[in-house]
Amino acid sequence: MAAFGTTIFAQMSALATTTGAINLGQGFPDTDGPREVLDAAVEALRSGRNQYPPGRGVPELLSAIATHQRRFYDIELDPASDILVTVGATEAIAASVLALCGPGDEVVLFEPYYDSYAATVALAGATLRTVPLRFPDFAIDEAELRAAFSERTRMVLVNTPHNPTGKVFTAAELALIGQLAAEHGAWVVTDEVYEHLVLDGPPHVPMATLPGMAERTLTISSGGKTFSTTGWKVGWVTGPAEAISAVLAVKQFLTFVGSSTYQPAIAVGLGLPDTFYTGLRERMTEQRDLLCAGLEAAGLPIARPAAGYFVIADASPLGADAAELCRTVLPHDYGVVGVPVSVFHDDPTLAPSLVRFAFCKRPEVLEEAARRLAGGG
Ligand code: PMP
Ligand code: GLN
Repeated sequence: MAAFGTTIFAQMSALATTTGAINLGQGFPDTDGPREVLDAAVEALRSGRNQYPPGRGVPELLSAIATHQRRFYDIELDPASDILVTVGATEAIAASVLALCGPGDEVVLFEPYYDSYAATVALAGATLRTVPLRFPDFAIDEAELRAAFSERTRMVLVNTPHNPTGKVFTAAELALIGQLAAEHGAWVVTDEVYEHLVLDGPPHVPMATLPGMAERTLTISSGGKTFSTTGWKVGWVTGPAEAISAVLAVKQFLTFVGSSTYQPAIAVGLGLPDTFYTGLRERMTEQRDLLCAGLEAAGLPIARPAAGYFVIADASPLGADAAELCRTVLPHDYGVVGVPVSVFHDDPTLAPSLVRFAFCKRPEVLEEAARRLAGGG
């Protein structure tokens, strides 16, 4: 794994700490999630839920995930066989890839991509075939997508809503991806951790709801983004029973089980009323709009994100090389940390001057960051 180095998120958060710059690099909220969820974790801890839970997850979380998928998407799942709780979406991704892919297999992936995907595919000994999404609209080029498939394609990894672009894949795009996967007998693994953070435009469509796709799709999500509890690391993967058993076979030797204390709390969160989910979106919309306006006022062209935690800006007015800018000029001269989008690419020339900024921060923090970017520090 030496080639993968230290994750960009650890590097950038360390840089924010040492320079005192505002950390718009790593995506984590700077406020706590809902009171009911925090209280439920305290209650679980105090009521003695401190030993190994069942390998698939605690019963009330399995049942809450099934209810959530029915409530929001009309997806029917059997909590006994179709759901596996994992240590964050990260473990769900790793265990799914390790369960289904091996040497000689190819995995189709859109770039830029969340950093754990490529490392996980390498751990499985499989090969990446990437399809570029280009600033500023991040549209799929159908010819490039078709060309990425081959007789070796074993899996397509789709992240919607997408990190780092904020793109929400349309039903038509998902249908094309699904059709190509079916033609090649490939699995689709979808990372939907930002499912409740679609701020405008078309709604989130889970791949598993498309005709014929449930039987070849593993759907992954996490409580981290939805309940502002990224440090709790409670995730899950749902799909056909046989595939979930295969993922469990890997998971048991990665981490054995997840945390007993936080699982019941995330179950409470998933059952919160609609007002919680709309309130979350309203807050994030306000924060997105604040940061987008700030970046534009600082003279940086942006790709306005429809979803998620992040906005991508073209930082060329501040310097041509975004990697250099993020490591030196931005933190030291402007007092703001962002992430160069090139680190999410196999081909860094696709994003030489693009920087990702997180807006999952309090309005006053975003306003101060905007002031610094406009004022030159
Ligand atoms: N997938 C994407 C697209 C992400 O942005 C993140 C970052 N949180 C994860 C997965 C990891 O989720 P978790 O913290 O639940 O492992
Ligand atoms: N998902 C968050 C991001 O993209 C944080 C991930 C991490 O720290 N591994 O910034």
